[in-house]
Amino acid sequence: MSIKCHTSHRLLLINPWIYDFAAFDLWMKPIGLLYLAGWLRQYGYTIDWLDCLDRYDPELLRLQGLSAPRVKAYGVGKFFRQAIPKPPILAEMPFPYSRYGISEDIFRARLHRIPRPDAVIVTSIMTYWYPAVFRVIELVKQHFPGVPVILGGIYAALCPRHATAHSHADYVLQERDPVRIIQFFDELTGFRHPRDSRSASLCEVYPAFDLYEHLDYGCLLTSLGCPYRCTYCASHLLSPQFTQREPEAVFQELLYWHRARQIQDFALYDDALLVNASTHLEPLLKQVIDADLPIRFHTPNGVHARYITERTADLMFRSGFTTLRLSLETTEPTRQQATGGKVTGAEFEQAVNALKHAGFQGKQIGVYLFVGLPGQDLREARDTIHYVHGLGLLANLCEYSPIPGTPDWNVLASQGYVEPEDDPLIHNNSVFLYLRERHNFEQIQILKNLVKAGNQRIKAQIQG
Ligand code: SF4
Repeated sequence: MSIKCHTSHRLLLINPWIYDFAAFDLWMKPIGLLYLAGWLRQYGYTIDWLDCLDRYDPELLRLQGLSAPRVKAYGVGKFFRQAIPKPPILAEMPFPYSRYGISEDIFRARLHRIPRPDAVIVTSIMTYWYPAVFRVIELVKQHFPGVPVILGGIYAALCPRHATAHSHADYVLQERDPVRIIQFFDELTGFRHPRDSRSASLCEVYPAFDLYEHLDYGCLLTSLGCPYRCTYCASHLLSPQFTQREPEAVFQELLYWHRARQIQDFALYDDALLVNASTHLEPLLKQVIDADLPIRFHTPNGVHARYITERTADLMFRSGFTTLRLSLETTEPTRQQATGGKVTGAEFEQAVNALKHAGFQGKQIGVYLFVGLPGQDLREARDTIHYVHGLGLLANLCEYSPIPGTPDWNVLASQGYVEPEDDPLIHNNSVFLYLRERHNFEQIQILKNLVKAGNQRIKAQIQG
């Protein structure tokens, strides 16, 4: 498709709804799109912003009869939701299916108030949330006929054929390099900006959080990608190179948001936060401690237990780490090794000892573990749950679902559990194990009950 030249440079960036069985704002912001907004603005573009998941949307609050959303500890909270019909492929799932975020009426009203842009950029996250993305594109095309719509984000990167065939976007952008993305928009809009876009890099701009009127938390990326290659993970497909920012640059960004927007809670979005800790995270945390900032850190992505030394744990505790997630996945040594070798049992226990010695309580430490990995039986998942509870930690059970392009996807494809042309809706971790008859509801529910009972016991012990 050829690119037409325009002379103006107004872009509308949209973060779509979530359509799913469950969703929760656990420090969830579209950081890739916010970085893109920052870059594009830096190069002279005018940005309009529409986040369907903004819990502070004034019309959404009016619809709920609220003056402010209900905010839980550390800024997280429930999204507004409205029941919607299930796609036929999910019909047998016995859970309600919902649109999370603003209503469609509010979305349409917002479009009416936004000047006609030169292009619309729609991001995407989970592959199985694509129906919400498609609906956004449909409504945008109805409202702004003739305006090119560009689909980017994670779904577009992992499922480009599906997105190209079905989304009705004018362009499906797989590009992750900011230099090339800016060049793409320059060509699309015919805009000649005064700066040299070749200098764009991860740390050159801040994600454009100022586009939100209200913020309960901030999100930080101190690095991109991960040096590991776990067989179930798409990190290297999305960010092939592992790059880390200068600790000083991260500190300045943190300080900026803390002072400009009084942000106290920061979610660290890194995939590999603790790699090279002595030269990366530790200098940052020392600066935070020296500055005596009243902030809290949260790691919704699991961190590498093997890099948690006594010194790192102490700095994490003193700098305000409050919600910690460790990645364990399984206690089975052979599978730990075969899936990427990111941690061993001994390393994990050493990390837990260091964290507890530093002052962390078990209720602050959640441990990610899988059920349903290729080749993993239920006994293994159950043993891992018992192990985590035995260490006095909270278990976070993840129902495995395959990500296209990962080695585990290929294993499942060779066994006939997945096919390249599968509807991405089956990637949903709430449905994959059942729809592909790897486990049934009762089996998984037993594990969920085990997790719930053990977690409650640990929380009660701590409080008692
Ligand atoms: S260590 Fe974590 S982020 Fe890195 S490849 Fe493995 S699962 Fe992905």
